[in-house]
Amino acid sequence: MDPDGAAGIADRLARVRDRIAAAAQSVGRDPAEVHLLLAVKTQTPEAVLAAIDAGAHLLGHNRAQELVAMGPALAGAPHQMHFIGHLQSNKIHQALPWVACVQSVDSPLLATRLDRAAGHAGRSLDVFLQVNTSGEETKWGVDPRQALDLAYAIGALPHLRLRGLMTIGANTPDTDEVRASFERLAQIRAAVLASGAPGTDHAVELSMGMSGDLEHAVAAGSTMVRIGSAVFGPRL
Ligand SMILES: *Cc1c(COP(=O)(O)O)cnc(C)c1O
Repeated sequence: MDPDGAAGIADRLARVRDRIAAAAQSVGRDPAEVHLLLAVKTQTPEAVLAAIDAGAHLLGHNRAQELVAMGPALAGAPHQMHFIGHLQSNKIHQALPWVACVQSVDSPLLATRLDRAAGHAGRSLDVFLQVNTSGEETKWGVDPRQALDLAYAIGALPHLRLRGLMTIGANTPDTDEVRASFERLAQIRAAVLASGAPGTDHAVELSMGMSGDLEHAVAAGSTMVRIGSAVFGPRL
């Protein structure tokens, strides 16, 4: 665990909650509309359990291998696990038992395979549609121009429940551009909800904002920020 241990995690978690509240209040939003998901990549189970003890119950892994390895250690602790990284098709069956939601659905093929795997497991699966709102080539996510069609395709699958949209903000010091990437996701959500397409009417979540840009995301309407380093310290 981090040198300052569980107390440090609890302390930084409180500071992140304060940042979220301040960001929400500054644009007239209720801070309770913004959920906090902890991105736990590279962390030890001890650090993650300390965060759960400190009240963080929504967690995200972005590698299937880490997800599966940590699963048993978290089994007794109250939490909900989301998958927030790129999910390879050959990892779906390993990952599925450990997650309540996959936030990174960005292709019809992945959606179809997840739907089939969930059906085989006799369950339904919450998903978010990941959109590449910054256009950066290094980022996963569906092109914004294809986002509506993919939302309709997901909505039509029997075992997936489309809960919202996810993006990673533009990686630039230009804060207008960062803000624009988040606003783009909010616009796509509005279009999805206005479409009336079957299975899309619960797509209300906007998963956007990380340690460095959560204020911009909350201003643009984020309902879920994904925070790692601001709570756990810089990644090794
Ligand atoms: C690591 C990660 C985060 C959190 O990033 P920080 O900058 O450490 O807050 C959020 N979303 C995804 C998809 C991540 O992989």
